[in-house]
Amino acid sequence: MEIRVEKLRKTFQSEGSTVTALNDVTLDVPDGTVTTLLGPSGCGKTTLLRCIAGLETPDSGTIRIGDTVVWSKDGSRTTSVTPDKRGIGMVFQTYAIWPHMTVFDNVAYPLQSQGVPRSEIPDRVERALKFVQLGGYGKRPATALSGGQQQRVSLARAIVSEPRVILFDEPLSNLDAKLREETRAELRDLLTRLAITSLYVTHDRFEALALSDDVVVMQSGNIVQRGSPDEVYFRSNTHFVVDFMGKANFLDATVKEPEHPGGHLLADTSVGPLLCETREGLSAGQRGQVAVRMEFLQVVDAADVPELPQNHVAATVTSAMFLGEYREVDLTAGDVKLVLRTPATTVLVPGQQVVVRFDPAGCRFITE
Ligand code: ATP
Repeated sequence: MEIRVEKLRKTFQSEGSTVTALNDVTLDVPDGTVTTLLGPSGCGKTTLLRCIAGLETPDSGTIRIGDTVVWSKDGSRTTSVTPDKRGIGMVFQTYAIWPHMTVFDNVAYPLQSQGVPRSEIPDRVERALKFVQLGGYGKRPATALSGGQQQRVSLARAIVSEPRVILFDEPLSNLDAKLREETRAELRDLLTRLAITSLYVTHDRFEALALSDDVVVMQSGNIVQRGSPDEVYFRSNTHFVVDFMGKANFLDATVKEPEHPGGHLLADTSVGPLLCETREGLSAGQRGQVAVRMEFLQVVDAADVPELPQNHVAATVTSAMFLGEYREVDLTAGDVKLVLRTPATTVLVPGQQVVVRFDPAGCRFITE
């Protein structure tokens, strides 16, 4: 079922000042899809999730789940459906499972509190446990499971009452790095099979990219970009989004030719003229930056390019860090610092003169 949030505003009073956690946020989460709210600490993502769940009261706006208005305030008229009547399942960061109960009792709890007939409960619990690949684990004490398994118990508990939507609040952040990666892949598979409208809060871009149909990037109580994982990563609109989605190079730049032959934009930058991906709405003379992610810079052997072609820049290696799967290399081109990745087998040493190729497909002119 679709979630629709319109002009949602939430402020907090904190130490005598007003913090705007949500600044008239409008968002829709289409039926059956996974949407991630991604952003740094304090950007408002948890507040938005908690408002939808009914755990926080907004100042104004509307929240709909399917055709039902679950919260709305317009002037003095307020509509509010209590959290337990909103048809929401929740999975929290701190699993929130009860350690003194068995796996079965943990998962059965929502059904018991909703008054589901006792005879129906065992089958429904076992179905939910099977779904998260914990069939037959019902009799175990909840604590006799690994962190990843405990998180799956909390997912089973969230889906057992067949909610209309599921909200996830940083569910993997308590797992160590390796387990988080494994559980992320399992969760992707579970969410695909579940095909239920899901809103997922995280500050981890890898999780957002791996799990979502749509990524919503938030900054200071506002949505600053929304799109598929590819769009948000490769077509980041602002410096903030480029930077938040991964390490990148930023070069001060001015648009020279907005429509250069070959379907590119030509920009004057601090390392010389660069062909960039075209962007509509830009005009000659406009100032901004060219943002280039590390993987769009390649080191070329200087001997192969005696005369520097377009989008090639002479640079000097300052350091190279071996990180197992690749090397991260810092360079200078005049006064400009650059960072890129090379295959682990490419060995570069400080002081080495190289040529760096800027792939136009990864050079993005940004104005904000
Ligand atoms: P995190 O990942 O750290 O949880 P977040 O993006 O989820 O961050 P929120 O928890 O939604 O951010 O907080 C948004 C803003 O509202 C922050 O500035 C936060 O300090 C403030 N805030 C949240 N809850 C309260 C509260 N109960 N009282 C006062 N201020 C609050």
